Amino acid sequence: MIDPVMMSSISWVEFQRRVAHENLVVFIPCGSLEQHGPHLPLGTDALLCTAVAQSVARAVNGLVAPTLNYGYKSQPRCGGGQHFPGTTSLDGHSLSQIARDIIRELARHQVRHIAFIDGHYENQWFLTEGIELAMRDLGKTAELRVMRLEYWDFCNEETLKEVFPDGFPGFALEHAAVIETSLMLHYYPDLVHLDLIPSDGPAKFPAYDLYPPDISLVPASGVLSSARGASPQKGALLATQICSSIAAAIEREFYA
Ligand SMILES: [Zn+2]
Repeated sequence: MIDPVMMSSISWVEFQRRVAHENLVVFIPCGSLEQHGPHLPLGTDALLCTAVAQSVARAVNGLVAPTLNYGYKSQPRCGGGQHFPGTTSLDGHSLSQIARDIIRELARHQVRHIAFIDGHYENQWFLTEGIELAMRDLGKTAELRVMRLEYWDFCNEETLKEVFPDGFPGFALEHAAVIETSLMLHYYPDLVHLDLIPSDGPAKFPAYDLYPPDISLVPASGVLSSARGASPQKGALLATQICSSIAAAIEREFYA
């Protein structure tokens, strides 16, 4: 399907025109291939950050580059860990180098504004490293500016209160739980199996990590706190509020 907001759907001629005539922001969704409980697909993080990037790009007339479908290794306290079948991850330096390469290439094409839309908790410092290395490569005179964000950080207090009337468990435990399940029900309802939502959690972890990890601390389902309160209405509320807040940040930093 041709979607004019996707960089992969337009020609080089159109790309060149848009870079030359618009203050173009290129969005790079960054996901993972990681277990998300029995009720959500392995590609949940990649699917959600892509949907968020598309909504924001439509709002600010930006372009979405192809999604990074693999991410840094799943950690037990925020993603369940690497022991789940199907969780397929990159070494940190691989992710940083991919981010660095893409920034260098977009800068070579005269793109001046890039926004990484991260949908996988564990990616953030390796994306940051890729951005830091690329900025160092390009030098101080480069006009490039890069934003990196984790989309859930844009949930405001009002939204959190409405989505979690009984109290918010925190973003780390929100793995395959209410926020991700609600957003999946909003964007990709066919990929959600509500009948398979487990009753596990919330998981209880000590305030440190151990290697090799103690997988007995991780609920067997891979869900770190219950997804039972998820609904498409909450998904619509989260999606609308998060995307408009991210669009406002893009306008402020890149268009003001
Ligand atoms: Zn996730």
